[in-house]
Amino acid sequence: MTLEALLALLGRRGMSVATAAGRVRLEGPAGALTPDVLREVAAHKPAILALLTDEACWACGSQAWWIPPHGRRVCGVCHPDPWTARRDDGGAHS
Ligand SMILES: [Zn+2]
Repeated sequence: MTLEALLALLGRRGMSVATAAGRVRLEGPAGALTPDVLREVAAHKPAILALLTDEACWACGSQAWWIPPHGRRVCGVCHPDPWTARRDDGGAHS
């Protein structure tokens, strides 16, 4: 499976992709992370990390990129991951 195919698959399953301390972090519905998906993510981990850390946001300078389901890479500071926001507290939406 190519990286693009993997990201498309994750999107179809409603999963977002982010990085935290050099690890790939996946968020999504329960049951979406099947063993075959985990295997593909592990195989593509270096490419995923590179995709999410290769440059800084032009607006805020952070490298907190993440990929929402059905979307392209976005900045986690300018466009916070709703899964994280929900956990942190009620999601400050500006
Ligand atoms: Zn930003």
